[in-house]
Amino acid sequence: MTSPTISQIGEISLIDDIRKQFSQKFRDVTVGIGDDAAVIKPREKYLLVTTDMMVEGVHFDLRFITAYQLGFKLISVNVSDIYAMGGTPHHVLLNIALHKNTPAEFIHMLMNGVKDAMTLYHAVLVGGDLSSTQDGISLSATLIGYAGKYILRSGAHVGDRIYVTGSLGDSACGLHVLKKMKRTVSLNKKNARGNTHSFCEKLGAMHGGPARSGLSWKIVEPLVRRHLMPEARNPQKFIRDATAMIDISDGLLIDLTRLCNESRTGAKIYEEKIPVSIEMKKAAACLGTDPLALAMTGGEDYELLFTAKQGKRVRATCIGEITESQRVIVNASGKERPLSVGGYRHFQ
Ligand code: ADP
Ligand code: MG
Repeated sequence: MTSPTISQIGEISLIDDIRKQFSQKFRDVTVGIGDDAAVIKPREKYLLVTTDMMVEGVHFDLRFITAYQLGFKLISVNVSDIYAMGGTPHHVLLNIALHKNTPAEFIHMLMNGVKDAMTLYHAVLVGGDLSSTQDGISLSATLIGYAGKYILRSGAHVGDRIYVTGSLGDSACGLHVLKKMKRTVSLNKKNARGNTHSFCEKLGAMHGGPARSGLSWKIVEPLVRRHLMPEARNPQKFIRDATAMIDISDGLLIDLTRLCNESRTGAKIYEEKIPVSIEMKKAAACLGTDPLALAMTGGEDYELLFTAKQGKRVRATCIGEITESQRVIVNASGKERPLSVGGYRHFQ
């Protein structure tokens, strides 16, 4: 039997299901889903509010991402913006626009992904809206967070060190892999299921030989996971020392440029210091792509880029320093070139 469509189920019953699934009570939510507006009793000094949209064909492609992964990712990308301000996520509003013939199963899986992400971030759904579209899916989440103290993009000073969390380029490399695989993969909480043997063999053949040694699902899985189900980076470990911060959503070079523009500074970064994962290096070699280019210009890693005063012991990777006005990249042999987003064209 095929799943009924959302128009067969109807808006009221869909909202009822969502309300049941997200009925958990939180102390500061006086009124949640069900009334005309949510009522929240704020607990901290500052409320942080952010919103992000994901539109089919622009931000995602259903040939590569499942409804569950999409729901999870939608929450993560919004949480990442709250973390980038030094806040903690709390309340979510969710807007969903789908074609009326969409199977109800799609929305159920989407909401499961939303739910698992919200559990991870200790956030609660307090409302939203449903609508139909002529064509394509459109999703948007609004996140409300709290902060005792917030951190802006504009707080960097000359001499501050520049840091990044985690490793960069994994998500872009994961997307590359998915485009070769031309299908969705299922990722569960601990292990992933998926067989990329045929994909790896094909790639190996493309590059003039049998599958390159070592490119197993174990290598590919963390990369596609980072693309499909990114986890936003919590800044608690270094928040006290951060002078300016931004999340890396569009790529290191673009987001560093944004931070420098807001801070009215320059920057010097060292290619050698940019953290890349072993998995990404191996997969990039197999794909015939430059790992450094992926790390500098690939987006959607949702790591944090921040600055801190020199001399602090910071638990992240230092990749350079803030300068007065010039923005440069230093390569492994010490040669400098201008740091311009368009100036790095190995990977497009
Ligand atoms: P209204 O027409 O007054 O906006 P709705 O019928 O759209 O009310 O929504 C009823 C309740 O269900 C509201 O509390 C709303 O926030 C909530 N709601 C609607 N759609 C969603 C959704 N996609 N996710 C979470 N809550 C939702
Ligand atoms: Mg409404």
